[in-house]
Amino acid sequence: MAQKRLAILGSTGSIGTQALEIVDAHPQLFAVEILSAHTNSKLIIEQAIKYKPNAVVITDAKAYALVKQALDHSDIKVFEGHQALNEVVQWDTVDFVLAAIVGYAGLHSTLSAIRAGKTIGLANKETLVVAGALVMQLAAEKNVSIIPVDSEHSAIFQCLVGERVDSIEKIILTASGGPFLGKKPNFLVNVKKAHALQHPNWTMGAKISIDSATLMNKGLEMIEAKWLFGLKNEQIEVVVHPQSIIHSLVQFNDGSLKAQMGLPDMKLPIQYALGFPKRIANDFPRFLFKNYNTLTFEDPDVKTFRNLQLATQAMHKSGNMPCVLNAANEVVVTAFINNKVGFLEMSDIIEQTMEQLPFIENPNIEELIASDLEARLFAEQLLQNNDY
Ligand code: NDP
Ligand code: MG
Repeated sequence: MAQKRLAILGSTGSIGTQALEIVDAHPQLFAVEILSAHTNSKLIIEQAIKYKPNAVVITDAKAYALVKQALDHSDIKVFEGHQALNEVVQWDTVDFVLAAIVGYAGLHSTLSAIRAGKTIGLANKETLVVAGALVMQLAAEKNVSIIPVDSEHSAIFQCLVGERVDSIEKIILTASGGPFLGKKPNFLVNVKKAHALQHPNWTMGAKISIDSATLMNKGLEMIEAKWLFGLKNEQIEVVVHPQSIIHSLVQFNDGSLKAQMGLPDMKLPIQYALGFPKRIANDFPRFLFKNYNTLTFEDPDVKTFRNLQLATQAMHKSGNMPCVLNAANEVVVTAFINNKVGFLEMSDIIEQTMEQLPFIENPNIEELIASDLEARLFAEQLLQNNDY
């Protein structure tokens, strides 16, 4: 089998570094063609020296200068900025693009890769939240496969192998419930970033860890699933499953349920996406029944964790509303990480932004870019005015 030549966008992040561990374990299967980072110059320099990609792209100007200097005497091309990212993903020498940048910042490079017909391993769920209709339409036009990396979507994708999409009755996304499962507002009012970052089952980047604590992550995943699998809103359900062993389920129209299970380890879905359509044998730790004698399930507490409700509303309203939700959420999560807003107030700001921004039913890409910017400015303004 020929090596797959990878562009790993966001190679310094949680998903990016785990993807490189998979490359380490299977050098005969994968070659690294492109790496990208934002601020972490130290790590991308180390990665560049180790993996000898054709090019690295740095999107932060300060970090770029450091990386450029460090790799000056090597054969590795060093580029700066998002435009460069959009160009390198289209190179003929790239077979597979792992979209593992966090947030809205990952949208345009993913679109650019789809435009060039590249197979996508999609970790960046915000891409489908912001522009799901446009992304899936473009992927269909270009005959591009989007292989999910998000564990729930990878689970559903795996359950659907050999099945017809029109035989899906519904999908059930499992949620761990995050570090504050069972907590009520009187507790949540006082939580700080250090608590929120301590996820019980998964080690992830800061933004998605906060999203897991607020349940926004599950809301974003509902919207991601809607587009990825072409579902109606009513076909998407969420169940809290604190052990994170069942990664999600599909219920078919004969009542049969299929689940995909495994230990909570992102390397599994990352490896599945990189290797697809082949499974790659590995020696990761195996699930043992004796360590898990009960698997439990409960309804999410959407009264306390209002972000899940807000995301559901945005999904139903559709148009530019998920884009607005996402932008406001990115603003408040950054503010929360910087101790500038309280845990519960994050939902207030997202809600007000959704209420106040103009609704566009069928936005084009320019309108989505404008909605994103407008929603960010509005949410920032609310943060400042309210002096949280
Ligand atoms: P991290 O924060 O760990 O990493 C993010 C990566 O994106 C880093 O390489 C970072 O560069 C880069 N980056 C950040 N901001 C920008 C920007 N403005 N422009 C270009 N690059 C940028 O995130 P994760 O790896 O946790 O998550 C990545 C994506 O995958 C997210 O969309 C997340 O929702 C999704 N995902 C993650 C999972 C996980 O387990 N981590 C599970 C499922 C989905 P640098 O570090 O150099 O600043
Ligand atoms: Mg997930």
